[in-house]
Amino acid sequence: MSKTITRTPEKTEVLGECLAALLQPGDIVVLEGDLAAGKTTFVRGIVRALAGDPADVSSPTFVLVQSYPCRARQIRAVHHVDLYRLTDRDPRALRETGITDLLDETDAIGTIEWPRSELVDQFGTNRRVWHVVITILEDGARSITIGPPAP
Ligand code: ADP
Ligand code: MG
Repeated sequence: MSKTITRTPEKTEVLGECLAALLQPGDIVVLEGDLAAGKTTFVRGIVRALAGDPADVSSPTFVLVQSYPCRARQIRAVHHVDLYRLTDRDPRALRETGITDLLDETDAIGTIEWPRSELVDQFGTNRRVWHVVITILEDGARSITIGPPAP
């Protein structure tokens, strides 16, 4: 578990780049934190580091998922999922979006904002799941905790 304080969006993005260096094909990154905490900014850093185009990375809130082709270390893509607007709690609704299938790809990285237990639990022990928790501090800085996958 590592904890870092970032004081600018650029530093949040750099931390995403640092995590990307540790990612392997098939890894899942779950991001928790309030609205505007910096989750999407962190994902932008991951995409940049894996040779995708970070300029494209915006909040996928309205489309639920965006995929960025990558070409680094056998990692073919980064899928960026945001479940904030998926109000339907039925697990079938999630499956119908196609998100479940995308996250099954073992040659891609799956990143998930506003994760749901039914989605995260399905990964079981055969996938490496990283937990990133971002908190907005009183002075506006961000506290970012990165929890590595269980060994
Ligand atoms: P989320 O996806 O969690 O809703 P965003 O990544 O869209 O949040 O970021 C929300 C805002 O916070 C953006 O304007 C971003 O530039 C800013 N931000 C990110 N990290 C920091 C930081 N360490 N200090 C100040 N602002 C930050
Ligand atoms: Mg976001």
